[in-house]
Amino acid sequence: MPHRDPHSLLGLAPGAGEREIKHAFRRLAMRWHPDRNADPTAIEHFKRLRAAYENLLAAQSPGGAPAAERHDEAAAAASPEPPGEAPPRGADRREDILLTVEEAFAGGEKAFTIADEIPCDACGGSGEEVLRHTRLCAACHGSGRVRDGRSLAACADCAGRGYLNRQACGACHGSGQARAARKLHVRIPAGVLDGDELRVAGAGEDCDRSGGEPGDLILRVVLAPHALYRLDGRDLILSRPVSAFRMLLGGELPIPLPDGVRHLKLESGRATTRELRVKGAGFPGRGKQRPGALIVRLVPVLPEAPDAEILALLERAENRLQNTLSRHLPDVASWEARWLPDIPETR
Ligand SMILES: [Zn+2]
Ligand SMILES: [Zn+2]
Repeated sequence: MPHRDPHSLLGLAPGAGEREIKHAFRRLAMRWHPDRNADPTAIEHFKRLRAAYENLLAAQSPGGAPAAERHDEAAAAASPEPPGEAPPRGADRREDILLTVEEAFAGGEKAFTIADEIPCDACGGSGEEVLRHTRLCAACHGSGRVRDGRSLAACADCAGRGYLNRQACGACHGSGQARAARKLHVRIPAGVLDGDELRVAGAGEDCDRSGGEPGDLILRVVLAPHALYRLDGRDLILSRPVSAFRMLLGGELPIPLPDGVRHLKLESGRATTRELRVKGAGFPGRGKQRPGALIVRLVPVLPEAPDAEILALLERAENRLQNTLSRHLPDVASWEARWLPDIPETR
């Protein structure tokens, strides 16, 4: 396989500076490091990347630096930034923020931990540690050459030396990176919904260029599923079992909302599953979005194993119903009128 040019391997333009080289390698190492990438070809590609990285860095050392800088200047002159363009800034960073329905409903401040990649302490970010004793390169068995098609090529692992005096850093497995937790306090506006984005200015990636501002952190809201509430847009929906008698009687019904209990007026009506709808009492509005409705699905429930006192009361109510059948139980009245004519009872 032909060896690719180290610049194109790292996705760099010719003449890229040391900072860009390091940055490009760090990004690619995150993707190709065998600890992070299960693909069997990852390890070979990672080695190629590291060899390219080392080659380029070596070319940056005193002798190579001025040439590279000239290149940078030439590149800058070729594509001058238009006047009035925003000053250089780091990349935006995107993360998900998991909120409960209660947090999204009420808003407020929430602690958010973000994992940063920082240079590994053990190796200073190089990804390598120097061996006390040099050892034979396993890839070329010490010859410094490997077979490449029909010809021999310099071994990429040891750069043709046949021996190694470095190995991947044990602390970071060669990535040169370590993780550090950064804690932020994020202001959550009331009424954010699943998929909404919150921007935290200046909390994104640092800028590679001197004098540049860091990018922003963009948090995408993910609402955790809730055992009681369901959302349809801004409509807040919940089910509530209610005594079938209360549904007949009407009255006041306490309903738990994400920020406290609200008492709703229940009109007397049929004891069948029905919805109570309160406009504007659902999820709060945000910007041009109007607040949603509160929708309570009432599910009638009859008493289970009523005691003697309840049964006595029900007996009285039932007697009264039988005496006013066509008014209170018209279905029963018409059924009986049709199927229970005035004929003698069977033996
Ligand atoms: Zn390390
Ligand atoms: Zn070798």
